[in-house]
Amino acid sequence: MSILKGRVALVSGASQGIGRACALELARAGASVALAARNLDKLGEVAAEIAAAGGTAQAFALDVSSEESIKSCAKAVLEQFGKVEILVNNAGITRDMLALRMKRKDWDDVLTTNLTGAFLMTQAVMSSMVKGRWGRIINITSVVGQMGQAGQANYAASKAGLIGLTKSLARELASRTITVNAVAPGFIETAMTSVLTDEQKAANAQYIPLGRVGTDVEVAHAVAFLASEEAGYITGHTLDVNGGMHMG
Ligand code: NAD
Repeated sequence: MSILKGRVALVSGASQGIGRACALELARAGASVALAARNLDKLGEVAAEIAAAGGTAQAFALDVSSEESIKSCAKAVLEQFGKVEILVNNAGITRDMLALRMKRKDWDDVLTTNLTGAFLMTQAVMSSMVKGRWGRIINITSVVGQMGQAGQANYAASKAGLIGLTKSLARELASRTITVNAVAPGFIETAMTSVLTDEQKAANAQYIPLGRVGTDVEVAHAVAFLASEEAGYITGHTLDVNGGMHMG
């Protein structure tokens, strides 16, 4: 069933991992998808994959750490598709270090990309949703933003900030039938977690009641649900996709 037929979605960081999986899932549900990230070659491959499956997608250059890039990306997407109704703020980075030794730049880079980037992306496409009186904004936060994590003060602060941003925007935009939710993945097998050693992965898996790490597709299913018409009465919520690792 094409539950998102006619809808236009924009996914940041769509070149790989969770963002790519979200783009594929939204396209499979019938949405036209604007794929945005820094690497246009990789985005082109995702667009080709979507086209081969009968969907519609186009690649757009985006660096969420640059306000100028965000504005020009949003402009290009709106020119191409006429509207943005579903925004998935997925782009994110880590720069891990114990707080005592964390460089100011690593703090700033993570906050700028993960939190300020999501805010500015939302601001850039919000009027399109308001005009259409329908929208879905989905912020990819993290279990780390809920629980904290040694060595990730910058990342945890950015992801906890996203939850506050989600709730505030949910209140501001509800009267326009725009819902704003967050998805909080736990430990998902992607490039971001591939830097962990096997020992670290096994130690983390120990705290997951379902006994395994998650997949990017499992996160994408939660995102597609929140983007659907059926999720219309859910707003300001953080949906955990963590195998029971944290029960909020
Ligand atoms: P990933 O590193 O594979 O993907 C991150 C994506 O963000 C990439 O496409 C990358 O190009 C993009 N990106 C990074 N900086 C960018 C910038 N300045 N401008 C545009 N795009 C940029 O990692 P992932 O695991 O797929 O992560 C996706 C999201 O999920 C992130 O926000 C991450 O924090 C979150 N998350 C991941 C996990 C996990 O276990 N993998 C857990 C919780 C939350």
